[in-house]
Parts: sequence; structure tokens; C-alpha cells
Amino acid sequence: MNSFILVISGPSGAGKSTLLKKLFEEFEAELYFSVSSTTRLPRENEKHGIHYYFISNDEFQEDIKNNYFLEWAKVHENFYGTSLKHTEKALNSGKIVILDIDVQGYKIAKKKLQDKIVSIFITTKNKEELKKRLIKRNTDTITQLEKRLENASDEMKELCEYDYLIINDELERSYEALRAILVAHRLKTKGQDLDQIQNIWNKGE
Ligand code: ADP
Ligand code: 5GP
Repeated sequence: MNSFILVISGPSGAGKSTLLKKLFEEFEAELYFSVSSTTRLPRENEKHGIHYYFISNDEFQEDIKNNYFLEWAKVHENFYGTSLKHTEKALNSGKIVILDIDVQGYKIAKKKLQDKIVSIFITTKNKEELKKRLIKRNTDTITQLEKRLENASDEMKELCEYDYLIINDELERSYEALRAILVAHRLKTKGQDLDQIQNIWNKGE
């Protein structure tokens, strides 16, 4: 099985979660969503262990000390991190691991696991549209919203670090693009057990 890590980054509000939800509806059996730890407070609809592990600052610092994280970063005043153990376990079981992480975290993960990572940057067609979506989502205070928009401009400067770019304008088209990337990478020869495939082919099983 061709297991790899699919990193999804992009400004908050661009539509990453919406697109990932669709991907999971179609490919659930093959995917593993890495639930991050964060020191941010849960939003109204968010559940511990499903959207994030919501932990205290002290717990987060303790996890850093214990090398619990594959990567971690401070984003919009809060800490976020990806479990190394969970990621490795999912990769070993042949899953495609989905990481919804920021640019700083992506750079760290890429240094550690370069040949396992495929990366996609998802954004809106312009800043105005991002603002509209954040307002519509209605999960941030005005100060948080401004912080997220400011951060988005910085993140846009890092586009060149990514393998693929999706401008999430029309949702169905963006989903087709995301799906195409996943399907193509699953078919790559690198990462597949070619000896086994050849053996099976020769035996005619
Ligand atoms: P992210 O996970 O990147 O922070 P979300 O998936 O929460 O973003 O999307 C932010 C808001 O934008 C949500 O209200 C979502 O319904 C909406 N949205 C997502 N994709 C589109 C799209 N292509 N066109 C219009 N609205 C969208
Ligand atoms: P939100 O607070 O909107 O859920 O997420 C804010 C930002 O943190 C998003 O850009 C998201 O991709 C990023 N993020 C979520 N989990 C992680 C993680 O484990 N590591 C890093 N580096 N960023 C994360």
C-alpha cells in the first residue's frame, strides 16, 4: 500500500475543513486524520478527541519536552502540534495521513519526512473573500478575525513551498482538484511494494 502524508495548509477560513470533510466521505477507509493538540479553547461545535485534543499550556510544554510532537508551532497566539506516534502508526498501517497544519509546522515536518510528504496550499481568490467566509463562519471575535487575516497575508508569501495550489472558489471544482491529487499520488510507483506486485503478476494470481 502506498502510504504517505498529505499536508493541507492555507489561511484559516479558506475552506480546508469543508474540503477535507468531503474527502473523508469518499475515502474514509484509506485516510487517517491526525487530530492535533492545541491550547486554543474549543469552538461551540468542537469536541475533544475529534477536532482537537484541547490541552493546557502546561500540558503542551510537557509534551514538547517528552518529544511527543512530529511538529508544533504557535499560530494566532495558541500552540498547535501533531503527534509523532499516531502519525507513524497510521503510516505503518498503510494509511494516507492527513495533516491540517500551518506553514511553520509544514516546514518542520518536511525536514523530518521529506520523501513521505505531499503538500497542498488551499486559499481563496482574494483577501476580501476570505474575510467574508470568516464572518460567515462566525467563530471568531473581531480581534481574532483581524489576527487571522493578518496571518493569512504572511502565509500567502509561502505558497512556493508547496507542491500544489488550490484556489477554492467553486467548491465542487476545488474538490475535484483535491481528489485528483490524492488519486494520482496513490498510484505512484515510489512507496508501493513493487516486488510483491511483480511476484503476484508472475504467479498469475
Ligand atoms: P478552514 O478549515 O480553512 O478554516 P472552513 O472549511 O471552516 O475553513 O470554511 C470557512 C467557511 O467558508 C465555512 O463557512 C464554509 O462553509 C465556507 N466555504 C468553504 N468553501 C467554500 C467555497 N468554495 N465557497 C464558499 N464558501 C465556502
Ligand atoms: P484553527 O484555530 O482555525 O482550528 O487553526 C488555526 C491554524 O492552525 C490553521 O492554519 C491550522 O492548519 C493550524 N493547525 C492546526 N493543527 C495544527 C498542528 O498540529 N500543527 C500546526 N503547526 N498547525 C496546526
